[in-house]
Amino acid sequence: MIEENLHRILKELPSEVKLVAVSKFHPFSAILSAYQAGQRRFGENRPQEFQLKALQLPQDIEWHFIGHLQTNKLKMVLPYASLVESIDSVHLLDLVELWGKANGRTVDILLELHLGAETTKGGLTEEEIEDILRKASGREGIPEYPHIRFRGLMGMATNTDDESVIEADFERISKLKCRLEEMFPELPDFKELSIGMSHDWRLAVRYGATIVRIGSAIFGERG
Ligand SMILES: *Cc1c(COP(=O)(O)O)cnc(C)c1O
Repeated sequence: MIEENLHRILKELPSEVKLVAVSKFHPFSAILSAYQAGQRRFGENRPQEFQLKALQLPQDIEWHFIGHLQTNKLKMVLPYASLVESIDSVHLLDLVELWGKANGRTVDILLELHLGAETTKGGLTEEEIEDILRKASGREGIPEYPHIRFRGLMGMATNTDDESVIEADFERISKLKCRLEEMFPELPDFKELSIGMSHDWRLAVRYGATIVRIGSAIFGERG
């Protein structure tokens, strides 16, 4: 079942788009089924579960952290994450930089753009993102965030069945990513666009997704 779902998606997904299999709430056995089918990139959104799985499952898995990261849980996530996709505040970014400095590590991250109207949802504004990248680029003196590698943007479209609303979200984040890429050639790693989940990944690909994060369409509904 998991293997068939994976293969069906991979057959349709352009080969240059990276698939993150979102395994949150699913047991080790489900992850191992996907692993045996060749999948090596997985995503989790809760620090404790992320750490447990990263420590106990095969070491060649590339783990993406995709959830809200509370500032007191950095230690559970940063040592094991290939990519932290969900940097959703300047405060969190500053703490990740401090962690990188203290541990002699460069942390790969995506900046999460706040999309849609939901006021409760986290994420950075376009202005905050531009400001961060300007500081990182070194245009204003010594580059800030030397222990962070800015790899691109992440976004979650508005939770709705109305495809035109989702499209508007994808268009906005896609345009922003292109604009920032042109604006900051000093940041050559800034090229990923992580958008698209089980119900909207095909649309996301049309809007330039380089990473899609798919859970229930692979593993089934979460219990
Ligand atoms: C759960 C989750 C996904 C995957 O959602 P599905 O609808 O199950 O594909 C993608 N991105 C984030 C940030 C998530 O929390």
